[in-house]
Amino acid sequence: MSPLLQEILETSSIYKPTMMLVLDVRQVTQLEKLFTIEMPNGLSLGHKPGQFVEVSVLGIGEAPISISSSPSRSNGKFELCVRRAGSVTSALHSLNPGDSVGIRGPFGRGFPIDRFRGKDILFAPGGLGLAPLRSLINEVLDDRGNFGRVTILYGARNPSELLFTDELVEWETRTDVELHVTVDHPDNDWTGNVGVITTLFPKIRVHARNTIAITCGPPAMYRFVLVELLGKGLLEGNIWLSLERRMKCGVGKCGHCQMNHIYTCQDGPAFSYAEIKHVEEAL
Ligand SMILES: Cc1cc2nc3c(=O)[nH]c(=O)nc-3n(C[C@H](O)[C@H](O)[C@H](O)COP(=O)(O)OP(=O)(O)OC[C@H]3O[C@@H](n4cnc5c(N)ncnc54)[C@H](O)[C@@H]3O)c2cc1C
Repeated sequence: MSPLLQEILETSSIYKPTMMLVLDVRQVTQLEKLFTIEMPNGLSLGHKPGQFVEVSVLGIGEAPISISSSPSRSNGKFELCVRRAGSVTSALHSLNPGDSVGIRGPFGRGFPIDRFRGKDILFAPGGLGLAPLRSLINEVLDDRGNFGRVTILYGARNPSELLFTDELVEWETRTDVELHVTVDHPDNDWTGNVGVITTLFPKIRVHARNTIAITCGPPAMYRFVLVELLGKGLLEGNIWLSLERRMKCGVGKCGHCQMNHIYTCQDGPAFSYAEIKHVEEAL
């Protein structure tokens, strides 16, 4: 077979969405909805925490969305937490259970969880950054015996923007998880920490050489988190980020998400700090 034909055959299906059933839609905050999508024929998505799918609404377009559920809880379904931002995400928000969406993927390199086993894990998501990290958090919690201390620091702008509040309560009550939550702007009912996520760092103890830290959120937030983590002495290869860039194809062809020699969609979106610290535009 000619190399060209082989490439066409290999790539023809990666651009074609598979229509899947929207099983459930739950409003989680004013801006975010959680979609449960059912795989056809009881198949499994086969994703890794940190990967994403391209979600399409026919006639509108396609958007990359992180897979928010963990492989350990997949069972023929997966979850996407979608913030209403523009045309595609608004169209997604208008869907109801029983409707269909197009799905391509999973794409990208997820987190190398095998390398995290035996280590302390420190999660530091900000805002919507909890959506991709929730997949990894629940994967770790479902295999809890194989990890050291698990600490979760979560920051949001205000209490009404906190995601997955049921799970925050569950993590709070676990004796094998240390959870600290903060908001920038409290309401009258808020009794927790007030301030940006970095105000939580003095509350925790970190064994610098044995800790993997994973952060995700807006650049203005993760840049300061990186400073804290490096200041605590974490190894650069043990600090992980999930980066959001404009992306279209999801498979390293179109170049929309390129940063120097890196295609965020294919080489990431999970990167260690060591891998990207010298990449212009990455941080
Ligand atoms: C790897 C990856 C994972 C993502 N995971 C999630 C997720 O789990 N949940 C979620 O809600 N969103 C996620 N996003 C962001 C999501 O893809 C964008 O919000 C979406 O593409 C916007 O499409 P739209 O047609 O609704 O908006 P558009 O009409 O295209 O744009 C509306 C607004 O959103 C901005 N925007 C568009 N694309 C992006 C982008 N990639 N990053 C930042 N701003 C953007 C535009 O500048 C504009 O201001 C992810 C993005 C990437 C790259």
